[in-house]
Amino acid sequence: MKKLLIILLTITAMSCTKKVAVDSIVINANIYTVNESFDKAEAFVIKDGKIIEVGTTLEIQSKYAPTFINDVKGKTIVPGFIDAHCHFYGLGLQQQKVDLTGTKSFDEVLQKIVNFQKEKNVSYITGRGWDQNDWEVKEFPTKKKLDELFPNTPVSITRIDGHALLANQTAINLAGVTINTTFSGGEIHQKNGKLTGIFIDNPMELIEAKIPSPTKKEQIQALKDAEKISFSYGLTTVDDAGLSRETIELIDSLQQIKDLKIRIYAMVSNTPEDVAYYLNKGIVKTDRLNVRSIKVYGDGALGSRGAAMKEPYSDKHNHFGAILSTPEEYLNIAKQIAASDYQMNSHAIGDSANYLLLKTYKEVLMEKKDRRWRIEHAQILDPEDFKYFDNILPSVQPTHATSDMYWAEDRVGSKRIKSSYAYKDLLNKYGKIALGTDFPVEKVNPFLTFYAAVARKDLNNYPENGFQMENALSREETLKGMTIWAAFSNFEELEKGSIEVGKFADFIVLDKNIMEVEAADIPYIKVKETYVNGERVK
Ligand SMILES: [Zn+2]
Repeated sequence: MKKLLIILLTITAMSCTKKVAVDSIVINANIYTVNESFDKAEAFVIKDGKIIEVGTTLEIQSKYAPTFINDVKGKTIVPGFIDAHCHFYGLGLQQQKVDLTGTKSFDEVLQKIVNFQKEKNVSYITGRGWDQNDWEVKEFPTKKKLDELFPNTPVSITRIDGHALLANQTAINLAGVTINTTFSGGEIHQKNGKLTGIFIDNPMELIEAKIPSPTKKEQIQALKDAEKISFSYGLTTVDDAGLSRETIELIDSLQQIKDLKIRIYAMVSNTPEDVAYYLNKGIVKTDRLNVRSIKVYGDGALGSRGAAMKEPYSDKHNHFGAILSTPEEYLNIAKQIAASDYQMNSHAIGDSANYLLLKTYKEVLMEKKDRRWRIEHAQILDPEDFKYFDNILPSVQPTHATSDMYWAEDRVGSKRIKSSYAYKDLLNKYGKIALGTDFPVEKVNPFLTFYAAVARKDLNNYPENGFQMENALSREETLKGMTIWAAFSNFEELEKGSIEVGKFADFIVLDKNIMEVEAADIPYIKVKETYVNGERVK
């Protein structure tokens, strides 16, 4: 009886206390907090861009007086996705070109260019992806209509294979090309003694050399376009794998005036000036920008047989691919980075590139703990070399596995393929794995990453039983790889990557429960709302 009285008194006391004023509360949600014990929750509280309490709807509603109540009516909420390896600015620059892939006629090409220019108003129009073989008239187009539509703006549009382009007269004038221009290798088409605008192979360079690098306005537009796409898919942080100082400073200035809201982990491209500048300056860290890593290239890609292999390619005699710098150069840059607080993030696809960089890391870091140096891609590994990942962080892109699975075995053979795209083995070695996409090489959509990681299939349900399923990740591991472990790979696990007290209110509302929906439905999950710092951005 006495106990009951105390409880009653406590409840009365609680309901009498004045409610705490906060910016907003999220209630009635199916929340995967991605905290240490992977707890679920129903509600949380946001003040000044941060999460200040997580709990049940009842608890939260009884304690707080929010300016705004976000009742999501049972929908699933997860932390905002982090893409641990992408080319965010590259995606934006791509939006500054007209996408002509899939056009069914030259008239459609013209219409797309007109629409594009209405929206973007660029000083030089570039585009890519037309293919006259898809049209009713399967002949090369001419510049006639382009000249009528764009008498003063240069236009240069490249064929899908990159081996032909159509330029208008303004672009041709800019390049100084006339009917008398000489060249070797390739063709400049003419008809009745006049240029048609078609350039094939080598002479394309004459036109391309005059395409200006993007203006400041176009650079800003690129960043904003990439941000819009990222937010639409629930990405709240992106790790851009290779940016110049110029672009990093532009990003910072836009973030300062709140013109850019996405959080960016900027890996500095390995150019001597920029590396010297940043290593000397030290870590650059704001709430939205983190500059503390250098991106280094070890080798090329598997598709083009540029990845550096220990043994020859299985489908090209005596061909090993290529390491892009000398071992001494890697050692040199690694030593410079090790002497700073920066992280080294190296692109390594082939087993030879992986081995060289892993050994270099080990030699330089020795017993230095928690430097979190990353291997980007870690795609094809000698089984012997997994051991080096005990303190070197794997950063992988699950859609690479499902994009390459059709031909990867041709390249490396039936034995080496077994230790390729081995995400589970890498996770088991390090204890964490960071997931990304490498967009725009792959699609931006993080649900494709999630699906590729857990199902290891393409969208046509191929292969039926999944590609090398022993290396599939569980849904919990995948969600962690796209949130808290990706944050860890950026030294940001204390400020983001989970829905916990003290962290940024970066989260997304989904139309389906990603942890329970049929695997085949994962790629089609939609992001209903995206929040950065408690602010709705989609
Ligand atoms: Zn990349």
